[in-house]
Parts: sequence; C-alpha cells; structure tokens
Amino acid sequence: MRNAFDADGRASDKSGMAAEALVPSSAAEAVQLFGDGTDVTVFAGGTILMPQIAAGRLKPKRALLLHRSGLDEIRTDGNVVRIGAMVAVSAIADGPDGPLARFARQVADLEVRAAATIGGNLCAPAGYEAQRGDLGAPLIALGARVRSDGKGGERTEPGEEVRPGLPGDQAGRLVLEIEYDAPSGAWSAQTLRRRHAHSYAVANVAICSTADGLRVGVSGVGPRAVRARAVEQSRNAEDVLQDVDPVDDAVASAAYRRKMLVLLVRRALDEAGNA
Ligand SMILES: Cc1cc2nc3c(=O)[nH]c(=O)nc-3n(C[C@H](O)[C@H](O)[C@H](O)COP(=O)(O)OP(=O)(O)OC[C@H]3O[C@@H](n4cnc5c(N)ncnc54)[C@H](O)[C@@H]3O)c2cc1C
Repeated sequence: MRNAFDADGRASDKSGMAAEALVPSSAAEAVQLFGDGTDVTVFAGGTILMPQIAAGRLKPKRALLLHRSGLDEIRTDGNVVRIGAMVAVSAIADGPDGPLARFARQVADLEVRAAATIGGNLCAPAGYEAQRGDLGAPLIALGARVRSDGKGGERTEPGEEVRPGLPGDQAGRLVLEIEYDAPSGAWSAQTLRRRHAHSYAVANVAICSTADGLRVGVSGVGPRAVRARAVEQSRNAEDVLQDVDPVDDAVASAAYRRKMLVLLVRRALDEAGNA
C-alpha cells in the first residue's frame, strides 16, 4: 500500500490539506502519541483508510502510523495465543488451521491480505457498499480478549464489546493486542461469498465449543460483528435473528442474508454444535 506521507511527515489529499504523521517505534510510544485519541487517525495497513483519503472523504489531522510500532508479533504462551494488532491478515491465513485462519484466507485477495491487519479488521468502520470486519465472527466464537489503550488507560475487553469507530473517531481506542485460548473443542467456520477475487462476505458464522460452553459469532451481515447468544442457549439456528439484524447493501439484500444466515448457523451447529 503506497504511503501517502512524505519524509517530512506531511500528507496531501486532493484538497491540499496537510496532516501530521506520527511514527512510533514501540507500543509504549504508540500509546503515548495516541493519548486520548483526540484528532488522531490510527493507520494500520491502510486498505480502508487510503481509498477514503484518495476519494477526499477523510482528512486526517494527526495520523498515527503503526508500521514500526512492533505490534506485529504472534506469540503462544502455553495455551494462549497473542496476536499484535499489526499482524497481517496474510500471516494469520498462512498460519496453523483454526477458525481465525479459515476466515483470514477468505478476506479480499493476496495483495490486500498482505497489507491488511487484524487490528484494522477488528476496528473496520461500516462500509459504503459492503460489510467488513469478517474476523469478528471467529474472534467472538473463540472468546477473544482485546487489549487497548486510550481515554481512561489500558483495558482488556471481550471481542464482542469492541465498537468499530469512524475513521478519525475521536472517541476511539488504540487496539494493541488480541488474545484467545487455543481451541481444544469442536469448531466450525461457515461463510457465503460471491465468486469474485474482491468479493465481500454475504454472511460469516463461526462456532467454537469452549471451556465456557458454545460460543457463536456472526459477521459480514451488518456494521459490526455480533455474538449470537440466543443460539448458544437454544442451539436452534432460527434464533440467530434474535441477536442479528442483517442489512441491505450492494453485496446482498437483508432478506437474502436472513435466509442464508439461518442456513449457515444450522450447518455450523451440525458440524460443531452438538459435538
Ligand atoms: C478490495 C478490497 C477487498 C476487501 N475485502 C474484505 C473482506 O473480504 N473482508 C473484510 O473483512 N474486509 C475486507 N476489506 C477491508 C479491509 O481490507 C480489511 O477489513 C482489513 O483487515 C482492514 O485492515 P487495515 O489494516 O488495512 O485497516 P486500516 O485501513 O489501516 O484501518 C481501518 C480502520 O481501523 C482503524 N484501526 C486500524 N488499526 C487500529 C488499531 N490498532 N487500533 C485502533 N484503530 C485501528 C483505523 O483508524 C480505521 O478506522 C477489503 C478491502 C479492499 C480494498
């Protein structure tokens, strides 16, 4: 992805507006430069942000560029997998098989996956014509915990509570790391996409049998990933619509998504829910 910022740390969009570029060389420095997030736009792989800048829809005042922040490691401590926010989607796709890798392999194409990051995917704002944030479904199903910093200091919260912001969202958080317990029980990853290299998902469903019971995550049907708690309780696929309200967009109608979502949940339950 081309860097829009020159050696002096200034960026120009079509309107000629210039931004200040902040380039931290450690996670601690990134946290310090982010502060409470006011007027800061966090740049990870830029696969969402750069097209917005090119189209003149985004004019960052202060751009926090994370590519040298060292947040790009995957570590395994015993049973716990820790993934830095700047780990590329391609690195997860090329890694060991599991619910997260299955969905990572479906995101966009090779070129986009190489630039796109897990942090950017988790924080992806609603798209204009398609939904994003596919990795939200497996992260919720895995019971992932997200470590972030910003106003009020560092905190760790469940993946389903992370609210994607708007680009440049002043109330946003800086995501540092995502961790989850490696799955030891049955799991299923179900997705429906159109046959095209750049296709976005119609719907994604991930199910994991964890130490805390069955967990069901849904993404690609609305602006943010959702935990389908009703299905976790009842194991009835139709109940997914109690927690999820699919949207219309250029990829699929809400009505089609509702039908397909129930089908995907049923398949996932058949594969993993009764194990
Ligand atoms: C052709 C094409 C196809 C695509 N197909 C898919 C697809 O199939 N599925 C899918 O899910 N997405 C898809 N996308 C969208 C996008 O590529 C991915 O969601 C990607 O993972 C975003 O990551 P990024 O690092 O590029 O994010 P960026 O563009 O850098 O950032 C995205 C948003 O997240 C915020 N952000 C980034 N990192 C952090 C952080 N650490 N802390 C806080 N905020 C942060 C940014 O401020 C911004 O608001 C596609 C994009 C393109 C261009």
